[in-house]
Amino acid sequence: MFTVRRSIDIDAGHRVPYHNSKCKYLHGHRWKIVACVSAPELVPEDPDESDSGMVLDYGTIKTVLMDKIHDRFDHRMILWEKDPLLYYREGTGPTMPLLSTELLTNFDKVFGDASWLQQVPCIPTSEGLAEYWAGLIAPELSSAEFTLQSLEVWETPNGVATWVAPRIINIRLDLEK
Ligand SMILES: [Zn+2]
Repeated sequence: MFTVRRSIDIDAGHRVPYHNSKCKYLHGHRWKIVACVSAPELVPEDPDESDSGMVLDYGTIKTVLMDKIHDRFDHRMILWEKDPLLYYREGTGPTMPLLSTELLTNFDKVFGDASWLQQVPCIPTSEGLAEYWAGLIAPELSSAEFTLQSLEVWETPNGVATWVAPRIINIRLDLEK
Protein backbone atom coordinates (compact mmCIF):
# COMPACT_ATOMS: atom_id res chain seq x y z
CA MET A 1 0.00 0.00 0.00
CA PHE A 2 1.20 3.48 -0.87
CA THR A 3 -0.11 6.88 0.17
CA VAL A 4 0.55 10.36 -1.18
CA ARG A 5 -0.48 13.59 0.48
CA ARG A 6 -1.01 17.02 -1.09
CA SER A 7 -2.01 20.15 0.77
CA ILE A 8 -3.43 23.56 0.01
CA ASP A 9 -4.12 26.58 2.21
CA ILE A 10 -7.13 28.84 2.17
CA ASP A 11 -8.14 31.87 4.19
CA ALA A 12 -11.78 31.88 5.25
CA GLY A 13 -14.12 32.97 8.01
CA HIS A 14 -16.58 30.92 10.02
CA ARG A 15 -18.19 30.65 13.40
CA VAL A 16 -19.29 27.77 15.63
CA PRO A 17 -22.88 28.27 16.83
CA TYR A 18 -23.63 27.10 20.38
CA HIS A 19 -19.95 27.22 21.39
CA ASN A 20 -19.69 28.63 24.88
CA SER A 21 -16.58 30.68 24.19
CA LYS A 22 -15.22 33.05 21.54
CA CYS A 23 -15.57 30.51 18.69
CA LYS A 24 -19.21 31.63 18.42
CA TYR A 25 -18.09 34.98 17.03
CA LEU A 26 -17.39 35.55 13.34
CA HIS A 27 -13.66 35.07 12.87
CA GLY A 28 -11.17 33.70 10.37
CA HIS A 29 -8.41 31.15 9.96
CA ARG A 30 -5.75 30.10 7.53
CA TRP A 31 -7.03 26.57 6.91
CA LYS A 32 -4.59 23.89 5.84
CA ILE A 33 -6.27 21.08 3.93
CA VAL A 34 -4.40 17.83 3.32
CA ALA A 35 -5.73 15.10 1.04
CA CYS A 36 -4.27 11.62 1.35
CA VAL A 37 -4.74 9.22 -1.58
CA SER A 38 -3.78 5.57 -1.38
CA ALA A 39 -3.20 2.77 -3.86
CA PRO A 40 -2.19 -0.87 -3.45
CA GLU A 41 0.23 -0.60 -6.39
CA LEU A 42 2.06 2.07 -8.32
CA VAL A 43 1.17 2.90 -11.91
CA PRO A 44 3.25 0.51 -14.08
CA GLU A 45 6.10 1.83 -16.20
CA ASP A 46 4.75 2.99 -19.53
CA PRO A 47 6.29 5.59 -21.89
CA ASP A 48 2.78 6.85 -22.60
CA GLU A 49 1.77 7.08 -18.93
CA SER A 50 2.75 10.34 -17.24
CA ASP A 51 1.99 8.91 -13.79
CA SER A 52 4.34 5.93 -14.21
CA GLY A 53 5.82 4.95 -10.85
CA MET A 54 3.28 7.04 -8.91
CA VAL A 55 0.04 6.58 -6.98
CA LEU A 56 -1.09 9.58 -9.02
CA ASP A 57 0.42 12.95 -9.86
CA TYR A 58 0.49 15.42 -6.93
CA GLY A 59 -0.71 17.96 -9.49
CA THR A 60 -3.90 16.00 -10.02
CA ILE A 61 -4.73 16.16 -6.30
CA LYS A 62 -3.89 19.87 -6.23
CA THR A 63 -6.20 20.56 -9.18
CA VAL A 64 -9.10 18.82 -7.44
CA LEU A 65 -8.44 20.64 -4.14
CA MET A 66 -8.28 23.99 -5.94
CA ASP A 67 -11.39 23.42 -8.06
CA LYS A 68 -13.62 21.95 -5.37
CA ILE A 69 -12.45 23.75 -2.23
CA HIS A 70 -10.12 26.71 -2.86
CA ASP A 71 -12.07 28.40 -5.64
CA ARG A 72 -15.34 28.22 -3.73
CA PHE A 73 -14.25 28.82 -0.14
CA ASP A 74 -11.06 30.94 -0.19
CA HIS A 75 -11.70 34.43 1.27
CA ARG A 76 -15.34 33.53 1.88
CA MET A 77 -17.48 33.35 5.01
CA ILE A 78 -18.48 29.75 5.78
CA LEU A 79 -21.67 29.38 7.79
CA TRP A 80 -23.93 26.48 8.71
CA GLU A 81 -27.09 26.72 6.62
CA LYS A 82 -29.13 26.49 9.85
CA ASP A 83 -27.00 29.05 11.68
CA PRO A 84 -29.30 31.30 13.75
CA LEU A 85 -27.49 34.21 12.15
CA LEU A 86 -29.07 33.24 8.84
CA TYR A 87 -32.42 31.87 9.90
CA TYR A 88 -35.07 34.40 9.03
CA ARG A 89 -38.72 34.24 9.88
CA GLU A 90 -41.09 36.65 8.22
CA GLY A 91 -42.80 38.82 10.76
CA THR A 92 -41.88 39.10 14.38
CA GLY A 93 -40.44 36.00 15.96
CA PRO A 94 -39.08 35.49 19.46
CA THR A 95 -35.60 36.35 18.18
CA MET A 96 -34.61 38.17 15.04
CA PRO A 97 -31.61 36.89 13.11
CA LEU A 98 -28.66 39.23 12.76
CA LEU A 99 -28.39 38.61 9.02
CA SER A 100 -31.87 38.93 7.55
CA THR A 101 -32.55 37.88 3.98
CA GLU A 102 -32.89 41.56 3.13
CA LEU A 103 -29.49 42.35 4.62
CA LEU A 104 -27.91 39.38 2.83
CA THR A 105 -29.32 40.63 -0.45
CA ASN A 106 -27.83 44.03 0.22
CA PHE A 107 -24.44 42.45 0.95
CA ASP A 108 -24.67 40.69 -2.41
CA LYS A 109 -25.25 44.03 -4.11
CA VAL A 110 -22.22 45.58 -2.42
CA PHE A 111 -19.94 42.64 -3.25
CA GLY A 112 -21.35 42.24 -6.74
CA ASP A 113 -22.15 38.55 -6.31
CA ALA A 114 -23.58 36.07 -3.85
CA SER A 115 -20.48 33.92 -3.39
CA TRP A 116 -19.06 35.79 -0.38
CA LEU A 117 -21.21 33.60 1.86
CA GLN A 118 -20.82 29.83 1.56
CA GLN A 119 -23.50 27.93 3.41
CA VAL A 120 -22.68 24.35 4.36
CA PRO A 121 -24.92 21.55 5.67
CA CYS A 122 -22.85 21.08 8.83
CA ILE A 123 -21.63 23.21 11.70
CA PRO A 124 -18.32 24.39 10.18
CA THR A 125 -15.99 22.97 12.76
CA SER A 126 -12.79 21.46 11.33
CA GLU A 127 -14.46 18.04 11.80
CA GLY A 128 -17.60 19.05 9.93
CA LEU A 129 -15.66 20.69 7.10
CA ALA A 130 -13.35 17.67 6.81
CA GLU A 131 -16.35 15.41 6.18
CA TYR A 132 -18.11 17.89 3.89
CA TRP A 133 -15.04 18.71 1.82
CA ALA A 134 -14.09 15.03 1.59
CA GLY A 135 -17.51 14.45 0.04
CA LEU A 136 -16.77 17.11 -2.57
CA ILE A 137 -13.39 15.71 -3.64
CA ALA A 138 -13.80 11.96 -3.10
CA PRO A 139 -15.55 11.32 -6.45
CA GLU A 140 -12.65 13.03 -8.26
CA LEU A 141 -9.97 11.15 -6.32
CA SER A 142 -11.32 7.64 -6.53
CA SER A 143 -10.75 5.15 -9.32
CA ALA A 144 -10.10 1.48 -9.80
CA GLU A 145 -6.43 2.16 -8.98
CA PHE A 146 -6.53 4.69 -6.12
CA THR A 147 -8.87 6.12 -3.49
CA LEU A 148 -9.18 9.10 -1.17
CA GLN A 149 -8.08 7.69 2.16
CA SER A 150 -8.37 10.73 4.40
CA LEU A 151 -8.73 14.48 4.52
CA GLU A 152 -7.12 16.60 7.22
CA VAL A 153 -8.40 20.07 8.03
CA TRP A 154 -6.02 22.14 10.13
CA GLU A 155 -7.90 25.02 11.75
CA THR A 156 -4.78 26.30 13.47
CA PRO A 157 -1.14 25.13 13.38
CA ASN A 158 -1.96 23.14 16.54
CA GLY A 159 -5.40 21.72 15.84
CA VAL A 160 -6.44 19.29 13.13
CA ALA A 161 -9.46 17.11 12.38
CA THR A 162 -9.26 14.13 10.07
CA TRP A 163 -11.99 12.48 8.03
CA VAL A 164 -11.08 8.87 7.29
CA ALA A 165 -12.74 6.88 4.52
CA PRO A 166 -15.23 4.43 6.09
CA ARG A 167 -13.76 1.57 4.07
CA ILE A 168 -10.39 2.21 5.70
CA ILE A 169 -11.97 2.21 9.16
CA ASN A 170 -13.74 -1.08 8.45
CA ILE A 171 -10.50 -2.69 7.34
CA ARG A 172 -8.86 -1.52 10.56
CA LEU A 173 -11.70 -2.86 12.70
CA ASP A 174 -11.44 -6.22 10.90
CA LEU A 175 -7.72 -6.37 11.66
CA GLU A 176 -8.38 -5.71 15.35
CA LYS A 177 -10.73 -8.71 15.66
ZN1 LIG B 1 -12.58 29.04 14.25
